[in-house]
Amino acid sequence: MKFAGKSAIVTGATSGIGRATAVAFAREGARVVVNGRNEKHGNDVVAEIHRAGGDAVFARGDVSRSEDNERLIDACMAHYGRMDILCCNAGINLAKRITDTNDDEVERVLAVNVKSIIYAARHAIPIMLGQGGGVIVVVASKTGLVAQYDSPVYCASKGAAVLLVKALALDYATRNVRVNAVCPGIVETRMLKQLAAEARDPMAKWREYETAQPMRRLGTAEECARAILWLASEEASFITGVALPVDGGFVAM
Ligand code: NAD
Repeated sequence: MKFAGKSAIVTGATSGIGRATAVAFAREGARVVVNGRNEKHGNDVVAEIHRAGGDAVFARGDVSRSEDNERLIDACMAHYGRMDILCCNAGINLAKRITDTNDDEVERVLAVNVKSIIYAARHAIPIMLGQGGGVIVVVASKTGLVAQYDSPVYCASKGAAVLLVKALALDYATRNVRVNAVCPGIVETRMLKQLAAEARDPMAKWREYETAQPMRRLGTAEECARAILWLASEEASFITGVALPVDGGFVAM
């Protein structure tokens, strides 16, 4: 029970990496605020945690909105009286060349993938400082470390997330607030299935995903969750400002 007595917020926790992370935090004793936009899906995750003997509540909110981030953090304080871990996981993809994008899509990707972290951190950090410390883990991407074809806006958003993490880590390094990122490679989640489905030849695209990483397999949401929990834990007490690839060796190429 590495997180007994602690509370954690996971954004975008109704599916994929976020869901696996929320479940894993609860399994390790954390009280978890499960964020998402779909109440039914959120309640399903909460029910799964309750069935396993854990503690969780659902907090509905669109993280692209500043006020929803505040409400989410306030919900954590109202339910659990403290806020130790913030995992900014919610994200969306945009697999389009720049000439095919429109203003609304660009704004949406930047709002969900970057501004959300700014809004959440801005509200969470003063609370963490008041408690004597805290941990933020952002789910960025390998595309925040190396570029990928046909996804410039997504790459820009994840690159911004990585530098935001490093800058926040510097500003709070002496005040016991650690800020780190995980950078997943190609991970089998709904997002990946959607991307494959949008390809001209979905089966070929899926095979391409399966063989693109040196380990020649897809990552799992649970493998990403384990890295997130490790960075959030005391075992990583001297680690801040890192962007940890969880990618089967992809960025080593
Ligand atoms: P996913 O689609 O299953 O999860 C994304 C979650 O974010 C969903 O539950 C979605 O509803 C939620 N979300 C989206 N917009 C939101 C908003 N405005 N407010 C609240 N929640 C919102 O896919 P995933 O792969 O689990 O993605 C999780 C994170 O991992 C994302 O940030 C994604 O960019 C990142 N990532 C995924 C991969 C991959 O290969 N799957 C690779 C690198 C990075």
